[in-house]
Amino acid sequence: MTGDHVYTSRNSKECYIVNGAENCKWVQFITVPTAKDCVDYSGWGHNSELIYDTVQVGDKTSNIKFSAYCFPDVINTEYSLWCTAAKNCFGCVNLKRKHYSILNKQYSKEEFEQLKGKITEDMKTNPYIDEKGRTWPYGEFCVEIFGKHAYNNSNAFKLIPKTKEEVLKEGYFWDDTENPSPPATMKAHVLPDTISETNDSILEEVIECASCKRSYKIVRGELDLLRKMRLPAPRECPKCRENKRFARMTKPKLYHRKCDKCGEPIYTPYAPEDPRIVYCVKDYQAEFL
Ligand SMILES: [Zn+2]
Ligand SMILES: [Zn+2]
Repeated sequence: MTGDHVYTSRNSKECYIVNGAENCKWVQFITVPTAKDCVDYSGWGHNSELIYDTVQVGDKTSNIKFSAYCFPDVINTEYSLWCTAAKNCFGCVNLKRKHYSILNKQYSKEEFEQLKGKITEDMKTNPYIDEKGRTWPYGEFCVEIFGKHAYNNSNAFKLIPKTKEEVLKEGYFWDDTENPSPPATMKAHVLPDTISETNDSILEEVIECASCKRSYKIVRGELDLLRKMRLPAPRECPKCRENKRFARMTKPKLYHRKCDKCGEPIYTPYAPEDPRIVYCVKDYQAEFL
């Protein structure tokens, strides 16, 4: 096993935040077990298998390639989006309980196999060429083209930071606009140190973040939770708090370095220049378990 935040998994390589992965490589965000025999798969498992180059499929999905948002019970499907309980589909969008369909049109099994074979052959010899001159033959999921969400507003930006120039060069979008921030009625630094000193009038206030000056509110459910947990009202806006949480996490990248006890080579999310002490599994378990 190699990766980070890997739970109840086996025989998998370079996986990140996975639970119940088996025979997987480059798989991440398997938040519901299991995922078996998958490569290049991002989210979310739940009894899925044979998933390749695909994002956000799960719940009894099997043999899915180059697709996104297909669930549940989707089988033998390629280049498809938002399909539900579909089987043997190719290039389909938003189909429910359909079989042997290409571009949302249903065929007989024989027609489907023949036409799919023809299309995939054509995709290999006449691949789609995007605005940047990149070719996308059969076997590639041209995910950047579908990604209309600005890279710098996505979680990808937090996990794999890139400069604006890199982002635009790679074909993603960048958005410099700031969401309008309503005028604040109070500054965060005057918030009390303890929640017991905070009364319900806080719910009427618009607070100016102590770090970035964006304004934010505290809502009833949040205030109730803070009281239950005995935590002070936050002095930073949700965006700053989220950024801090991501900053604490290791990133989905592994480095070769040596165990700080025995010197054996290890493959770890902690970069060689990271000053933290990192042990191999054997030494870690001997020390702490
Ligand atoms: Zn802020
Ligand atoms: Zn060691």
